[in-house]
Amino acid sequence: MSIVKLENAGYVYGSSHPDNLGTRALDSISLEIEKGEFVVMVGRNGSGKSTFARLLNALLTPTSGTVLINGIDTRIEKSLWDIRSNVGMIFQNPDNQIIGTIVEEDVAFGPENLGIDPKEIRIRVDEALDSVGISEYAKSEPHQLSGGQKQKVAIAGILAMKPHCIVLDEATAMLDPVGRRETMGILKRLNKEEGITVIHITHNMDEAKDADRVIVIDKGNIAADGKPEKVFSNVRMIKELGLDVPQVTELLFEIDKIGYKLALEVLDVDKAYSELSELLINREAHK
Ligand code: ADP
Ligand code: MG
Repeated sequence: MSIVKLENAGYVYGSSHPDNLGTRALDSISLEIEKGEFVVMVGRNGSGKSTFARLLNALLTPTSGTVLINGIDTRIEKSLWDIRSNVGMIFQNPDNQIIGTIVEEDVAFGPENLGIDPKEIRIRVDEALDSVGISEYAKSEPHQLSGGQKQKVAIAGILAMKPHCIVLDEATAMLDPVGRRETMGILKRLNKEEGITVIHITHNMDEAKDADRVIVIDKGNIAADGKPEKVFSNVRMIKELGLDVPQVTELLFEIDKIGYKLALEVLDVDKAYSELSELLINREAHK
């Protein structure tokens, strides 16, 4: 069973007012995400990414169609905690998601709400802090930490609930390059080693290139969905949607544009290097 399944799911804001047609944020989305996938979602501002994210842990329920998490319809109210503990959300601004005055209290907040035994909570909190590499800050006050460290606290808080899936809504956008890299490293490890499904919304195309799958969303619809090499090799389409491509693709695209035939389905620096070396050698040979 897919961990996430949308069947013609749509969302219109403000449609409950009879004299208001509302804003259609998501049109009719159908997709399935399997357990253990690392999915990156990209799309320009206002394309519906945050709305999509909110549908996944029932912060919103679809105004048309269905959203199923582990087969459970998000509209079923008694499953709300089940869904929320299964699908953890991390948002852009770490300051808005930290509640506790001490790091370890903050991380304990989720499992406390799930009614978990205090002894078990202690174990989970220590494991979660260790997992994101901030054990030494367990007794610190969150406001003293950097943005990247705060996002790690937020991730630890989610991990302490033992979720199957983590959804990050532009969670790296406010971080410096080190914070970004470390956060991506943590997500990749949780995905590879613990099998946690990751759905990462980002504007950073270099973060997208390592995903198993990239979903491009535009005006509330899926514009592309596939392996990153495939999706980004369609450089013109990506640019038409107002998005960038990863740096390696951009470089190859520019060289291809001036008349050298190159395979654009390359995202990896080493592969791009060999492709360009081959091009130069062939050029020399033809002189
Ligand atoms: P993204 O995260 O890709 O920037 P959003 O999902 O936030 O996109 O927004 C999609 C559309 O829904 C936009 O047109 C936005 O203005 C609208 N929208 C988002 N949140 C609300 C809201 N709370 N009330 C009304 N319209 C909203
Ligand atoms: Mg958003």
